[in-house]
Amino acid sequence: MTFSNVEHARVWFITGASSGLGYEFTKKALELGDKVVGIARNIEKLNELKSQYEEMLLPLRLDVTNRSDVFATVETAIKHFGKIDIVINNAGNMIMGMIEEFNEDEVRSQMETNFYGAVWVCQAVMPYLRTQGSGHIIQISSIGGLISGPMSGIYSASKFALEGFSEALAQEAAHFGIKVTIVEPGGYWTNLYLKMGFTVQNQEYDSLREELAKQYSTDSVDSDPKLAAEAIMKMINSENPPLRLILGSIVYDLAIENAEQRISTWKEWESVSRSAEHGIPAPEGYGIIE
Ligand code: NDP
Repeated sequence: MTFSNVEHARVWFITGASSGLGYEFTKKALELGDKVVGIARNIEKLNELKSQYEEMLLPLRLDVTNRSDVFATVETAIKHFGKIDIVINNAGNMIMGMIEEFNEDEVRSQMETNFYGAVWVCQAVMPYLRTQGSGHIIQISSIGGLISGPMSGIYSASKFALEGFSEALAQEAAHFGIKVTIVEPGGYWTNLYLKMGFTVQNQEYDSLREELAKQYSTDSVDSDPKLAAEAIMKMINSENPPLRLILGSIVYDLAIENAEQRISTWKEWESVSRSAEHGIPAPEGYGIIE
């Protein structure tokens, strides 16, 4: 589907639009004739793209961790284009390390961008989407939002948190005709891994690190971000977009295997789970939730 008529162009609000996946989403939307509000802290690359797409692209400098700036930027976007149809919460970063190695700032900074940033954007856009009675919010999670592993525990925590609030948002937003989709990409060649942070290593973990290094394949398993943009476009243009969409074969297989393992463990422990429930009258003072 192409929207070559400017009048009918959709308006996208994409965070982390200056690089990697977000940049490809931005280019794809512009190529199809849609309008884009491109968000990043450094908008130099978006300004270069503007020379090609002119008034169809509005680059705005924003750090998504600043809640009041997020609200002001969404307002600027609405004043400029009159509406927002598609929101992609894509801005993100990654810090790797063993849980014990993380300092407080590192834990908080991971949550600030990957979780709080997305919450602020959703809170800022929802009033406009509710009034419109339409819109589609896309949350860029990760396979790390479904499965956690050594060295990526805090990154995963931020993506699990993103998924947790997005499931609730999807149900609340559906009431107003707004769609929410959580996207779980596998590996793509972007700046994420070039810019990723590392904790200060604790030597006690050296042997575990060596074990993990043996498990990692040296073969390339990452893909061209353009493929992710094409998949996102298919999903957005579909009649009935899903709550969750996995991008990539390797992560697809991992997710299925992980879900099957969860079900099998739940079933193995079913009798213990069921034994922990036997309804009794509410203790005094407990009211019904209003
Ligand atoms: P990149 O590093 O290439 O892009 C990250 C983008 O986010 C940049 O545009 C960056 O711009 C922006 N950004 C980072 N922090 C902030 C902030 N505080 N405020 C506003 N913008 C910010 O990485 P990717 O394209 O790979 O990452 C995009 C998303 O995809 C992330 O959420 C990541 O977790 C997820 N993902 C990526 C995978 C991959 O293999 N690449 C796999 C699974 C998930 P600037 O620094 O100028 O602000």
